[in-house]
Amino acid sequence: MIKKIAILTSGGDAPGMNAAIRAVVRMAVYNGLEVMGVRRGFAGLINGELFRMDRHSVSDIIQRGGTMLRTARCEEFKNEEVRQKAANILQAYGIDALVVIGGDGSFTGAKLLSKLGVAAVGIPGTIDNDLSYTDYTIGFDTALNTVHDAINKLRDTSTSHERVSVIEVMGRRCGDIALYAGLAGGAEGIIVPEKNFDKEELIRTILDGKNTGKMHNIIVLAEGVGGANELASFIENISGLETRATILGHIQRGGSPTVNDIVLASRLGAKAVEVLMKGETARVVGIRDNQIIDEDIDEALAKKRNFDDNLYEIAKILSL
Ligand code: ADP
Repeated sequence: MIKKIAILTSGGDAPGMNAAIRAVVRMAVYNGLEVMGVRRGFAGLINGELFRMDRHSVSDIIQRGGTMLRTARCEEFKNEEVRQKAANILQAYGIDALVVIGGDGSFTGAKLLSKLGVAAVGIPGTIDNDLSYTDYTIGFDTALNTVHDAINKLRDTSTSHERVSVIEVMGRRCGDIALYAGLAGGAEGIIVPEKNFDKEELIRTILDGKNTGKMHNIIVLAEGVGGANELASFIENISGLETRATILGHIQRGGSPTVNDIVLASRLGAKAVEVLMKGETARVVGIRDNQIIDEDIDEALAKKRNFDDNLYEIAKILSL
């Protein structure tokens, strides 16, 4: 039986992390558990940056972007002695279990910490949607809406000037942001790390579009493939069409979470507490076919990512 849990956010931030924190704290309090917040991820944990939380600690954060607990990267956490220090601090506060909101790196940290006697559960918080065991991660939907809005604005100005617009989006090695936002934004080209990039085909698409009366060309490029500036120069040199590059960067990480992200974060936060109360450890929570699930961390991280080839083909056909 666990009595006291701690919660932290780690790695890259994502809109909806606050809603997940709120769900964990409120569900834990509802079930009679004590809760402590940890500031600045694993870095704050080894520094002893803990504070008591109650249901009011998470008032008015459900709609806010960022994370009230702040986040950090902590390279030293890969070192066993440092993790032992973290476990000692948690023990000193009588904490039996830790909720970690973050991506795959954070989950690995949580898994290793769980071997030192602290129960741990991970909640997927990353805009990249790069965790294969779950259909969606918290923050992905909000980032898509941010990118979609940017594409629409860039389309207006591209059309006015009859330009080609290359838009670089985040996602590390995962092309999901580019794919979904590109489809929704009617992009003529979507370039992702999962698919072979045929430069000549792209030039043909752009020129064919011009010849059939297209006023603009929107090319969405996932950051994992390469730089937007190089691609824009290449397109301009070969096609002769004026081409501008826009790197959306960190605006994709900010903003108020969408309803989808808030609902997902609330469901996952509630599930994380439920999993810990069952006495489980080294688990992650996620969503599959709209069911909230939990799974062993190692098994979850070992899953191979499934890129949606079908959606990619549809996006191509629809933008012809
Ligand atoms: P994300 O969780 O978004 O994938 P990172 O990969 O930067 O972000 O990981 C966040 C933090 O998780 C790291 O700064 C580190 O503290 C911890 N972490 C990552 N990988 C490991 C590892 N192999 N062993 C222990 N801790 C790790």
